[in-house]
Amino acid sequence: MIGIKKKTPDIEKILIGDIELPVHIRKNARSKRISMRFNTTADSLVLTLPKRTSKRKGMKFLNSNINWIVSSLASLPKRKEFIDGAILPFIGNDYVIKHRPEAKRGVWIENDAINVSGQIEHLPRRVKDFIKKEAGKAIIPRVHAFAEQIGKPVNHISLRDTRSRWGSCSSNGRISFSWRLVFAPEHVLNYVIAHEVTHLAEMNHSQDFWEIAKSFVPDMETSKQWLKTNGSQLHRYG
Ligand SMILES: [Zn+2]
Repeated sequence: MIGIKKKTPDIEKILIGDIELPVHIRKNARSKRISMRFNTTADSLVLTLPKRTSKRKGMKFLNSNINWIVSSLASLPKRKEFIDGAILPFIGNDYVIKHRPEAKRGVWIENDAINVSGQIEHLPRRVKDFIKKEAGKAIIPRVHAFAEQIGKPVNHISLRDTRSRWGSCSSNGRISFSWRLVFAPEHVLNYVIAHEVTHLAEMNHSQDFWEIAKSFVPDMETSKQWLKTNGSQLHRYG
């Protein structure tokens, strides 16, 4: 599995205008002072407290920095909606979403555009459905190709929209992925697929596991790093 390790979250809320902003509170034995930052999807704050600092003191700190929070919130990059004219990355290429109300072709890719026919109010949903379908077309053959190389059967492949993990594999050969991986570069997509397929052979992260994974994608480090740095950005689309 690739994803964020789960801990019981300590979440508070602060009110910014009429927006309730979640605050994730973390203790860090190594930090010497209180610090805060936005998570990368900008939908919550992360408040880090030194070991001995109380939560109450932390919340006081937030309230005394409310101006910073308000102005940062305003300057953060917005969600990347599926709208006419928006640029969408898809497996390493950028496409512009083009509304084509006159066409009666559903959704189709032509040159560098994702063309969407029909009424404008249906465009976001149609783009999302299209991306999910195309994600399946990109991911499923890759899974089978890798699995064939190690002679392991794949029982089921599913695509999901999970927040905390990019892929998972169960011991009975069921593999699932986040369809949002198609917004990442191709090497990242290949790495996550290779990782989960390798779990068909090794249900752990042992030396043997990494040997097999490396045979699929030699430069895993670049992809791992990319996911660490940019992974949460993939949740901003749509
Ligand atoms: Zn894993």
